[in-house]
Formats: sequence, C-alpha cells, structure tokens
Amino acid sequence: MAVPRILIVGGGYVGMYTALRLQRRLRRGEALVTVADLDSYMTYQPFLPEAAAGNIEARHVVVPLRRVLNKCQILSGRVTQVRLGDRKAEFTPHEGPDLTIDYDYLVVAPGSISRLLPVPGLAEYGIGFKTIEEAIALRNHVLGRLDIAASTPDPEVRRKALTFVFVGGGYAGVEALAELEDMAAGALKYFAGLRREDMRWMLVEATDRILPEVGPDMGKWTALQLRERGIEIRMGTLLKSAEGCRIVLSDGEEFEADTLVWTAGVKPNPLVGAGDLPLDKRGRIRVDPYLRVHGTDFAFAAGDSAAVPDLTRPGEFCPPNAQHAVRQAKTLADNLLAALRGEAQRPYRHKYAGSVASLGLYKGVAQIYGRELRGFPAWLMHRTYHLTRMPTFNKKTRILMDWTLGLFFPREIVSLGAIEEPRKEFTLSARS
Ligand SMILES: Cc1cc2nc3c(=O)[nH]c(=O)nc-3n(C[C@H](O)[C@H](O)[C@H](O)COP(=O)(O)OP(=O)(O)OC[C@H]3O[C@@H](n4cnc5c(N)ncnc54)[C@H](O)[C@@H]3O)c2cc1C
Repeated sequence: MAVPRILIVGGGYVGMYTALRLQRRLRRGEALVTVADLDSYMTYQPFLPEAAAGNIEARHVVVPLRRVLNKCQILSGRVTQVRLGDRKAEFTPHEGPDLTIDYDYLVVAPGSISRLLPVPGLAEYGIGFKTIEEAIALRNHVLGRLDIAASTPDPEVRRKALTFVFVGGGYAGVEALAELEDMAAGALKYFAGLRREDMRWMLVEATDRILPEVGPDMGKWTALQLRERGIEIRMGTLLKSAEGCRIVLSDGEEFEADTLVWTAGVKPNPLVGAGDLPLDKRGRIRVDPYLRVHGTDFAFAAGDSAAVPDLTRPGEFCPPNAQHAVRQAKTLADNLLAALRGEAQRPYRHKYAGSVASLGLYKGVAQIYGRELRGFPAWLMHRTYHLTRMPTFNKKTRILMDWTLGLFFPREIVSLGAIEEPRKEFTLSARS
C-alpha cells in the first residue's frame, strides 16, 4: 500500500509546529510530510519590533525550516490553489515549471495578510509590518531618514524625513512605533544638530482606544506613556490620503511624511479563496472544533486563516494570534495522526491568557490572567515569555546573547538601506 502523503500549506506558526509534532510522532514509513512555504523559514513575529529596533539580530528571529524539519520535504514557492475535490494543490516554485501536488491529508495554514483600505497613495508609499523583510527595511529606512535630516540645510526636506506615521493601534503598530521611536531617540546623540523635538512620531487609530489586547485600562496607560514620550496619538482619526507622501487625516490636518507604516488589521490569506475550501463571510476557512475543514475528514486548518470556534466563549471564534496558533497546531497534529490511525480526535479548547507588549528598552505593558503589569516588570515579562516560546535552543541562545551584549554596548546606528541595490556601485564602476 502506498505511504499516505500529508501536505502542509504554510510553514509559519501553525505549519511549522504541526510538522514538528508530526515528524516526532509519526512511525517510520507511516506517512510522508511535505511543507510548502513562500520562504524557507518560519518568522517569530512577536520579535519583529525588537528586530526592527536592533535589539535582536534579524536572522535570530527566523527559524530555518530545512534544519528543524529534517524529516519533512520542504518546498519553497507559492501554493496558488488548494482543491479538496480531487485532493490536489497547485504550486509555483521560485523558478521552474509549476507542479501539481497530490495529497491524502491536508493542513491549510497560510496565515493572514495586511488588510489595506482604498486610501489613495497607501499602496505606493506605505509599508506593512508582518515580515522580517519589512522589519529590516524599516530599521534601515528610519536610520536613513536621520542621515538625510542631519545632512541637509533644507527645513522642508528635514521635516519630511523626520515625520513618521503609523496607522493602526493594535500590538503590531504600537510595538513597532514604540520600539523604533526608542531606537531613533537613542541614536540622535550621534547626529549633530538633530534634537528629539525635530522628530514627529504619530499613531493614527480609527477607534477610541489603542492596544485592545491588554484591556482598556492598560490601553489608556499606554497612550499616556507614549504621549509623555512626545508621540502624538490621534484616536478616532482616519488616514484619508497619502498621495505623493502627503498625509491627509480625517481631522483635516495635512503634512508631508517620508514614513508611513500600515498596521490597521489583517485579513485571511487570499489563497484560501482560490480553490474549493468552504469559507465564512469574513473569508476564513470554516473548521469544526476538531480543526477539520467543514465537511471533510482529511483536511485540517488553523491559525489566522481559519475560523476556529472558541469553546471557552460559545458562539465566538478564536482571535488571530500566536497564542492560539501554537496550541491549535498541537491539537491539529494529534487529530491528523488520529485520523490516519482511525483513533478518536479531541476538540480544540484554550482560554486566552492575555497579552504582553514591549514599548522600547525597559518599557512594556501586559495583562495576563487579569493581572495588569506596566513599565519594567511588563517589559521583563515580555522578554521572558517570548524567549521561552521562541523555537529551538539555538535561537533562544542567540537572542539571549544579543540582549546581553546590548547591556554593555550601544545599539548599531548604521542604515544599510543600500543593501536593496547591491549592484549599484559595481554598475557605476563599469560605466566610468
Ligand atoms: C508584528 C507582529 C507582532 C505580533 N505579536 C504577537 C504577540 O505578541 N502575541 C501573539 O499571540 N501574536 C502576535 N502576533 C500574531 C501572530 O504572529 C500570528 O497570529 C501568527 O503568526 C499566526 O500564525 P499562522 O500560522 O496562522 O500564520 P503565519 O505564522 O503568518 O504563517 C503563515 C505562513 O504561510 C506562508 N504562506 C503564505 N501564503 C502562502 C502561499 N500562497 N504559499 C505558501 N506559503 C504561504 C507564509 O510565508 C508563512 O510562513 C504578531 C504579529 C505581528 C505581525
């Protein structure tokens, strides 16, 4: 009899943790596991703000799939369609012809993408904050703006370079803004002629609260703290336009800004709509409490792209976060194995424990099991919690080393923005 094939679409939180558990628990010759992802690494997203600030080396927040999943087949490229009807998926490798992949069991976990609104200029001038590439680019960009501002006598160029706008007050936006502002404020002492008052950092949020993940009181406290640091918080405000780097807000204010970061929510990866997966009205894959795709006994889904019933809050669905994704992966792997072996499956149940957020060096905010923490204790909890969650001993050690070195040496202030055009100087040399 042929060995059953398990296809995992997406090697992020759900995909990587599911594959890890499967490779540990599968008996020899029981099944073949293939993981298909756009990248050959899993990104530990909660550390992206610290990577952007330079507290952690960017390579240390990604986990190489080929190393940790050494018993799985790893395919790098884009899955373009998943079909339940004939149990096939279409795959486009980064180079070479497309492939059709047959499977017996399926795990769909392509996560979410930034939810853009039709704001003029947003797609051209904005940047998201979901990937390691975006975090690295933003770090280089912000430091590059300090270089520009310190090297020009033109007040308009300087003002535009030193204006940083973030849209969306969830943890991704607040942490990214707080960490980058902290880094830039710390770097200013090396930029003669620039003062903190010359920089303008702004958070634009459509609702009347920020950081809902840590509860209303801690959200208010965070807004107060950020304001005390000179960061403008515009609640109940929308971005109307960003054309030509000219920011127009719904309260009527208009100004120029070189930096626009869009973190106003996520939506399920559009891949889930490309085949015959059953979707709910928000575009998420419909799954039952056992994480089986609705109406099937061979396909599973979890994470940001699935509508997983939250059994601790009947009638509600689990919010898209890593806390759920990691635990769902465990249940999913066990249920898939049970399906393979004809054993009983168990439903997914986890009561949300709360959130921790870092707001720059030694600053943080947290709400865990109803307990509220602020300042240094929250920051310490953020670091301790995420370090324990970071996959592999290797990465944990490297991150700990980064933090330890950071206690003794200042953060790097070099912008390596030119890395995006590595052949530029060589090409110029060829012309001279
Ligand atoms: C900046 C930031 C900070 C965060 N902080 C926290 C936090 O503190 N606490 C918390 O609980 N959560 C946090 N989250 C949310 C958390 O990271 C997500 O909820 C979690 O990653 C979801 O897991 P997932 O497996 O569904 O998706 P992901 O981890 O995003 O994985 C999806 C994978 O699918 C791959 N993929 C996508 N499309 C395709 C395709 N067509 N073909 C092949 N592969 C594809 C991607 O490359 C990716 O590897 C944060 C998110 C961000 C962006």
